[in-house]
Amino acid sequence: MMRERLRENLDRVIWNIEKARVEVSEHHIVKLVAVGKYTTSENIKLLYELGQRAFGENQVQQLANRVKELSSLPIEWHMIGTLQTNKINRLIELKPYLLQSLSSLKLAEALNSRLERKGATMNALLQINSSNEKSKSGVKPDEAIDIYQEIRERYPNIKLRGVMTIGALSNNREIVQQSFETTHTIYDRLRRDGAEICSMGMSGDYELAIKCGSNLVRIGSKIFR
Ligand SMILES: *Cc1c(COP(=O)(O)O)cnc(C)c1O
Repeated sequence: MMRERLRENLDRVIWNIEKARVEVSEHHIVKLVAVGKYTTSENIKLLYELGQRAFGENQVQQLANRVKELSSLPIEWHMIGTLQTNKINRLIELKPYLLQSLSSLKLAEALNSRLERKGATMNALLQINSSNEKSKSGVKPDEAIDIYQEIRERYPNIKLRGVMTIGALSNNREIVQQSFETTHTIYDRLRRDGAEICSMGMSGDYELAIKCGSNLVRIGSKIFR
C-alpha cells in the first residue's frame, strides 16, 4: 500500500537526517521540506497525515494546482524552482511561506516592485550557484554577499532569510562537498545580517549537506519514489 511505502521512506529519511545532524551538534536542528514534483496531490496528503507539514514545488503552475487541490490542509508551501518574471504575480497570489530560489538582482527588483504594488511582502532565500554550472540559476559565490546586502537595502518588500544552493552535479563527493562548503561560508558571513536558513541537500546528497551545515533539506525522490 502506498501509505506504508511512504511511511517507510519518510521514517528512513528522518532517521538519516537525525544521524547526520547529531554529528554536527545536538542543537543543530534541520528542517525537512518534502518535494512533490514527482508525485500526486493524493500522496502529498498521505504524507501530511503521516506528520509532514512543509512541502516544496519547483514550478509556479504546479504550486498553484497543489495549493488549490490541498486547500483544506494548513500546509507550509515552499517555491524552490527557477522563477520566471511573468510568473511573479501568480506566485504572490499564492502567498508561499518561502521563495527559496531568488536567483538574481534583476529578479529581486521585479519581485519587489510587484510586491510593493500589492502591499505585500515575501520571505525569500538568495540562491547561490555554488558550483558555477552554466545550467544552474543563482548568483555567483563571490558576488553573493554584496547582492544579499543590496537586496536588503533596496528591496524592503523582500524579507531575506538566508541562502539556498543545489549541490554540484558530480559523482565526486569532494566536488559536491566543496559546493556546500562554499555556500555555508557565505551563510555564516550573512548571519550578522539576519540569515537563519541554509537550504542545501536533496535526495542524493542531504547527509553530506547537513554535515556541511545545512539546516533545511529538500527531498523528493527518496520519499515519493
Ligand atoms: C526536485 C528538486 C529537489 C528534490 O530533488 P530530489 O533529488 O528528488 O530529492 C530539491 N530542490 C530543487 C530545487 C528541486 O528542483
